[in-house]
Amino acid sequence: MKNTKPKEKLVSFSIDGKTCEAREGQNLVDAAMENGVFIPSLCYFKHHDPPLGTCRACTCKVNGNYLPACIQKLEEGMAIEVNTEKLKDIRHALVEMMFAEGNHFCPSCEKSGNCDLQHMGYELGVTNIRFPHLFKDRVIDYNPQRMVLENNRCIKCRRCVEEVFTDEGKRVFMYHNRGIDTLVAVDYEQEAQLTEKQAKAAMDLCPTGAIIVRGSSLVEPFGERSFDMESDQKDYNVLFPSKKEQKKMDKKTVATVSLAGCFGCHMSLLDIDEQLLDIVNVVEFNKSPLTDIKEFTKRCDIGIVEGSCCNAENIETLRKFRDNCDILVSVGECAIWGGLPAMRNTIPLGECLEEAYINVETSVKGEWVIPYHEDLPKLLDRVYSCNEIVKIDYFVPGCPPSADHLWKVIRNLLWDEGFSVLYHEFKYD
Ligand code: SF4
Ligand code: SF4
Repeated sequence: MKNTKPKEKLVSFSIDGKTCEAREGQNLVDAAMENGVFIPSLCYFKHHDPPLGTCRACTCKVNGNYLPACIQKLEEGMAIEVNTEKLKDIRHALVEMMFAEGNHFCPSCEKSGNCDLQHMGYELGVTNIRFPHLFKDRVIDYNPQRMVLENNRCIKCRRCVEEVFTDEGKRVFMYHNRGIDTLVAVDYEQEAQLTEKQAKAAMDLCPTGAIIVRGSSLVEPFGERSFDMESDQKDYNVLFPSKKEQKKMDKKTVATVSLAGCFGCHMSLLDIDEQLLDIVNVVEFNKSPLTDIKEFTKRCDIGIVEGSCCNAENIETLRKFRDNCDILVSVGECAIWGGLPAMRNTIPLGECLEEAYINVETSVKGEWVIPYHEDLPKLLDRVYSCNEIVKIDYFVPGCPPSADHLWKVIRNLLWDEGFSVLYHEFKYD
């Protein structure tokens, strides 16, 4: 039989100066992929036409205009830019905004390791956020039968609204309110009609941990997650000086401090194990809980800061570190953006104190008291990241960063090299 299907017309276009070819009218995200160029996105579905176009992470330059790639259909002669420095920065900033706008406490999130937003953060090398965190307190809906909807993690990609239906074709999710107040709401009656498999599929299509099926917890152990893979990022890895070289070297000086943190990053530092013996040949620790030296006795090459600032004493200590260290490094999530201590930023301070000292089970009845004394450091209105208080030179993400990674970073910085945070080296325990 004669094939009557119209022949597809191929068009020629360029991506970052490279000539490419694809079908006329084809979606740019797909066409770029077929030509070996990955354009990241958090909302795009190949089968969804018209595309949702909500997340904007695929922003490219098309014939000189900044536009989301997912809503572009290919035409002959299109000049497309994808990976210029400016576009990479725009994409980076968009993902940073998503992290700053919601509450993303990855170490305690059920989706960690399976989360597209987290993946995108890894892929783009987001190590700190240039925007202030909003610490919103949005509705967490526990009413649905099979799932919990955590609006503080939702990036409003609209995937759930457009893709999740019951067998009778009824919509399960919908948008509620408008603008910055937009929330995802659940139709409880329809949600109850979903099978376990359909509920799981809804959780999987959400690019964040906003939709969590009850009973789901961290599904992949760290190290075995889909994102714990090698990447082709450039690895800076300074070799440790040989014994002979060590003898000729002046010792570098390092100071460390734990502000509002759990001391986990320091424990990670100690996990360097026997390499610590090599370190003491070339590094002298000054003010640090490791040495118990309470005040700086000399200027230091590197200051390593763990923890965020939750009281006036933390601020004073951090400022002293800035004044006395050539390079200041924020280590771990608490130092970088507030981390777990910043969970209190979504709750008024008075309520936090009442919960901690009055309503708590361990308080002796009749002896409830919120400690207050002039010698106690004053609590701040909220928890601040270190870079909100002083200039921070480098950020080492992780919760805590692994010992090997931490040591690699310190080694690189001590000998004046840049450092890389490789995809597979991120670690959240
Ligand atoms: S939704 Fe993703 S990025 Fe947000 S806390 Fe959970 S794992 Fe982290
Ligand atoms: S709940 Fe998830 S899928 Fe739905 S809009 Fe929010 S981020 Fe997107």
